[in-house]
Amino acid sequence: MMIIIFVGRSNVGKSSTIRALTGAKIRIGKRPGVTLKPNIIYYEGHRLIDLPGFGFMERVNEEKQEKIKDFIVHFVERGKFDKAVQVTDIKSFAEIAKRWEKRGYIPLEIEMFHFLRELGYDVVLVANKIDKIPRDKRDEKLNELCELLGLRLPWDTHKFIVPFSAKTKENLNTLKEIIFSS
Ligand code: GDP
Repeated sequence: MMIIIFVGRSNVGKSSTIRALTGAKIRIGKRPGVTLKPNIIYYEGHRLIDLPGFGFMERVNEEKQEKIKDFIVHFVERGKFDKAVQVTDIKSFAEIAKRWEKRGYIPLEIEMFHFLRELGYDVVLVANKIDKIPRDKRDEKLNELCELLGLRLPWDTHKFIVPFSAKTKENLNTLKEIIFSS
């Protein structure tokens, strides 16, 4: 039995990923930022804690976005979980990260990844929406993700980075194995 937290910027496909993993009927494409209450999903004896999506959200003011981030940080710091799964959108990760770096900020998703690792978590990094990247560009994209996170190249030397598509279910079994193995 494991307690596993799921984090991700809003709209990366976190709900879709949890749904693909467990079959739980959680709503996809729901209006984000409305509630801070984590959603708990029970699956094969495990407890999955779905934390609110963070970062920029349309029609959610900056103060509320800050509040969500603080909530996640405090929640993760206070609890003791067996594993952390960070869902990213591989199509937009680098673009958004570079935009923020250019403005002199540490991109939120990069900050979150390092925060989880500093707390000692085994982070499973889901590179979701891989279906949007042509096959011959995938290695390049995944290496770019690695570079931005300060991880060594090539990307496939890290077992915890999993290219995935919640839409096509590509790599679903690999992802399941990595997340639910202790
Ligand atoms: P969340 O806000 O992170 O929980 O994201 P959702 O699961 O609600 O998904 C946000 C949007 O991305 C929805 O329109 C989904 O249909 C879409 N989406 C999620 N996963 C994928 C994927 O793997 N591929 C593609 N092409 N779209 C996806």
